[in-house]
Amino acid sequence: MRTHFIFLSLLVAVYAESEFEGDQVLRLTPRDEKQVSLVMSLEDKEHLKLDIWRYPVKSDRIIDVHVPENSLQSFKVFLEYNDIQYSVMIEDLQVMIDNEKAELEQMTMKERSTSSFNYGKYHTLDEIYSWMDSLANEFPGLVQKQQIGTSFEGRPLYILKFSTGGTGRPAIWIDSGIHAREWVSPASAIWMANKISSDYGQEPFVTSLLRKMDIYMEIVVNPDGYAYTHTTNRLWRKTRSTSPGRKCVGVDANRNFDAGFGGPGTSGNPCMETYHGPYPNSEREVAAIVNFVQSHRNIKSFITIHSYSQLLMFPFGYKCDPPANYQELDALATSAVRSLATLYGTRYRIGSICEAIYQASGGSIDWTYNQGITFSFAFELRDTGRYGFLLPSNQIVPTAEETWLAMKTIMSYVNDRS
Ligand SMILES: [Zn+2]
Repeated sequence: MRTHFIFLSLLVAVYAESEFEGDQVLRLTPRDEKQVSLVMSLEDKEHLKLDIWRYPVKSDRIIDVHVPENSLQSFKVFLEYNDIQYSVMIEDLQVMIDNEKAELEQMTMKERSTSSFNYGKYHTLDEIYSWMDSLANEFPGLVQKQQIGTSFEGRPLYILKFSTGGTGRPAIWIDSGIHAREWVSPASAIWMANKISSDYGQEPFVTSLLRKMDIYMEIVVNPDGYAYTHTTNRLWRKTRSTSPGRKCVGVDANRNFDAGFGGPGTSGNPCMETYHGPYPNSEREVAAIVNFVQSHRNIKSFITIHSYSQLLMFPFGYKCDPPANYQELDALATSAVRSLATLYGTRYRIGSICEAIYQASGGSIDWTYNQGITFSFAFELRDTGRYGFLLPSNQIVPTAEETWLAMKTIMSYVNDRS
């Protein structure tokens, strides 16, 4: 019995740890729209199990795609047959994941011996949740932790509220980690939350902002997915919801908002990465945000943080009509990314979701925009594909620092108009 159990757990361990062995990430550079559609037509071929990491944007048509080892040969034959150029970005995905894991373990051991929170490290959900308590304890009267809902698997959904008092103040919302595998997103938000806390009363920008406005941060929008990227599948994107009769787990939470629900750039197939879910707000994680925004009523700016591609985008994604204040958003985004680039020279592109990347429906910022939050933005942080979702941890702090400059530009503009 015991041997049997050990054998079983060994099997599970081996399986879990070599899930991506031999898988590659390819960068395709189609020469025209026809080649783009040829590639995209393979996306819903379930047996190939292609996972698009980066969709073609209008300006460059580059597609990054994670190809499982089993599909590699036939996919490459397809590319060569159709004369579609490609290069190998990541030679063996599992090797990169293993390296990241080994580094993380080393850092965790080191962190335990110093007992201080390391902002240059990717943390587990438990570590993030307990860091929230420490921050609230360290800055009483400024930072509060509040629960706005419960995830599908029963985890609390927490926000941090930064406020110097008053009720019904105009507010800025910042969220991160809606897509589980985009680790640099919550990691940067954590750094920013600490920055806001320690700058208040010390630095003029944060101090004057918080005299008038509140800031809400939901650092891990999708805790079930995030926990799963640490325990089981580093590349998990969706929520972890299930329902009777549905054959695959999870919904793309950023296709589940009620803005052009089920439209272009989403899938009705539960096994796809962009599955929009059975109906709008079906995901508890989405419903929690929707309820919060609707009951607050005074949110002036809604900013959501993703990775990767280095983009700063604004509505709309579900349609290609420009929003009413297009000129203003375009100018503000331009000045935000200019400011971002001053620190390390990191270059971002800007535009509406539709013009910067592709049509994508059911996204949070389209919904908030339609709720009257006219300063709604989505960041796609570093990098442009060298590491993709597996951005090395030594880039967390630089990414957060530069992104903070863009955030400041947006927040200060909104503050002046609130
Ligand atoms: Zn994302």
